[in-house]
Amino acid sequence: LFQPERENSRGWDLTAVDALAEFDAGRAAFRDAKWRSEPILATEEAAEGAEVLPVTNPADPSDVVGEVMMSSEADVENAIAHARRWQAPASTRGTALRRAADLFEENAHEFFALTAREAGKTPKDAVAELREAVDFLRYYAARGEELKDPARGTFACISPWNFPLAIFTGQVAAALAAGNAVLAKPAESTPLTAALGVRLLHEAGVPRDALQLLPGAGKVVGAAITSDPRIAGVCFTGSTETAIGIDRAMAANMDPTAPLIAETGGLNAMIVDSTALPEQAVRDIVNSAFQSAGQRCSALRMLYLQEDIAEHFLEMLKGAAEEMGIGDPWSHATDVGPVIDARAEKGIVEHLEKAKREGRLMWQLDTPAKGHFIGPALIKLGGIEDLEREIFGPVLHVATFKAGEIDAVIDAVNATGYGLTFGLHTRIDERVEQVTQRVEVGNLYVNRNQIGAIVGSQPFGGEGLSGTGPKAGGPRYVARFTEPMRIASLP
Ligand code: NAP
Repeated sequence: LFQPERENSRGWDLTAVDALAEFDAGRAAFRDAKWRSEPILATEEAAEGAEVLPVTNPADPSDVVGEVMMSSEADVENAIAHARRWQAPASTRGTALRRAADLFEENAHEFFALTAREAGKTPKDAVAELREAVDFLRYYAARGEELKDPARGTFACISPWNFPLAIFTGQVAAALAAGNAVLAKPAESTPLTAALGVRLLHEAGVPRDALQLLPGAGKVVGAAITSDPRIAGVCFTGSTETAIGIDRAMAANMDPTAPLIAETGGLNAMIVDSTALPEQAVRDIVNSAFQSAGQRCSALRMLYLQEDIAEHFLEMLKGAAEEMGIGDPWSHATDVGPVIDARAEKGIVEHLEKAKREGRLMWQLDTPAKGHFIGPALIKLGGIEDLEREIFGPVLHVATFKAGEIDAVIDAVNATGYGLTFGLHTRIDERVEQVTQRVEVGNLYVNRNQIGAIVGSQPFGGEGLSGTGPKAGGPRYVARFTEPMRIASLP
């Protein structure tokens, strides 16, 4: 949908020498900083004696980035009891959210340092993350001002660690733009980024009873707020498995009309046929599979190469992937940072070891010894039906197909039940049409990489097991946080 009034963040051009120097000087002040996250409640009274845990850097677990005070059951009860819809006119809410966007940009360097150290974001990823958060704030502020329907009440917003600022902010901004109260539960691994975001939102004018932060464990805090009948809806981004559990808890405890807005996992595939431009396709595959260490819901997991070009193409792909820098996400030389924690690392290593035992590990980049790193890898598979689960790391699976088998490939991809992103590299227009008609996904990317979305012009979200919709960053998203109402009257 073309929206000429849309204003996206200008971001930071790290290819410009001056901007790069400013970026480095600005974030240097936070190289050794320590942050703190704790319940931020309407009543300003977090319970005493709660558990306090260290938050560490996934690239270097000896780097303690800060500490988090976990929310207690008393904090959760307190937050639910004191949550109040944001009753101010939509224009006032919009003004505060836009002010928050400005404050996010003014505090950019702190976010760049914090997301690097708490979540392993490379400079490029840290910039993209902040830009998207700022875009969500401005875009949802504007959408909220267009709506007439009333807020629903109190929303539980539950977010993942892989976009600790952008997704966290997007959920919260949409619920607030519609006038709801929000209980925000960030991921356990990234409570510090969320706390800085909430402090700036409050500073921008969002009332404390309209936005409360509840850092803590999903199984405790998340489970409590998604099964409380006083909650009017849940906005969730994370794994499909967790979303299914939340859906069940809501069905058992809440008003049956309470919406679950869920954005979940994917088994994302790409087809590269023999007409594709190899250099371009290779660059796009490397980005799609390995950028952000493969920890994007949109990331490419399953590459289908046309048999005729496969051998030559794989050599080119390995050559390009060999050039990637893996290591400290603070460094500009790093393309692939760490995975989020020891548990994630273990799960991916087990998958790689199994592939190795079965003789299917085709290539892997050396893995740094210290920190939670996984060297990007290529694994051979017969097809997507052999991929047992979403491997949330820098691991690309590869299969080949023969000319004439494209429909069968798409049928196999559709049969997984997931439908998040799909990539296609071809120079044949009819093939683009064929794939567009058949593939069941939320976001299809043709002759480009298959990660990333631009708020306002490229709404993002999946279908089937990948999400409920409406698409984030799209025109229908904020409306889902309202109670549709029509007034008919006679004079
Ligand atoms: P996750 O384990 O499902 O966790 C997501 C959030 O849910 C976290 O805040 C988690 O808290 C919380 N949670 C866990 N158990 C809960 C429960 N029983 N009740 C309520 N909340 C609970 O997912 P993740 O590992 O953080 O994120 C990676 C997944 O997210 C991948 O599958 C990825 O594809 C998906 N994702 C999808 C999108 C999209 O737009 N479609 C975007 C990003 C990520 P704890 O951290 O305390 O466990």
